[in-house]
Amino acid sequence: MRKRFHLDSPAAHYQADAAVLWCFDDRMTLVVQKFLKRIGAARADSVRIAGGAMALASPTSEFEQKYVLDQLGLSQKLHRAQRVILIAHRDCGAYGGSARFRGDAEAEAAFHSAELARAADVIRTALPEVSVESYFADFDGVWEFDLAPSARSD
Ligand SMILES: [Zn+2]
Repeated sequence: MRKRFHLDSPAAHYQADAAVLWCFDDRMTLVVQKFLKRIGAARADSVRIAGGAMALASPTSEFEQKYVLDQLGLSQKLHRAQRVILIAHRDCGAYGGSARFRGDAEAEAAFHSAELARAADVIRTALPEVSVESYFADFDGVWEFDLAPSARSD
C-alpha cells in the first residue's frame, strides 16, 4: 500500500444525532448540511440515494424498501440514532423533476408532502422507537410541511 493522502480523523465511537435519508442531488448538499446543524443534527449518518425517501414511499422493489430500512436500523443500532430525518427536495430528478408538475410549485410540494408522510409511516412501523421528521429543501431554504388537517389535534 502507498499513502495517497494524510489527514488525522477522530477514531472515537460516536452517537449520531440522527439518521438522515435524502437524495444525492448535490445542489442541496450545502443547504441541508447547514440546516442539519441548525436543528442539532450535524453529526448525522447519511443515507443518500436518488430520490431519498422515495425508496420507502414509492419503492421500485420490495428489496429497495427493506435495504433502506435496514440502513436506518443500523444507524440506530451502531450509533444510537434516535431521530430519523427525511428531506425531499425541489426538482428531484428521481421523480421526474419540477417538469413533472408543469411549473405548479404548490402541486410539487404537496406531492412531496404526501410521499414523506407515507415514508414516515413505513419507518414508524419498522422502527417504532425512533422519532421521524420530514422536511422539503427548496432553492431558497428548507421548509416543514404543516400537519394534514386529519393529523391536527385542535
Ligand atoms: Zn433528488
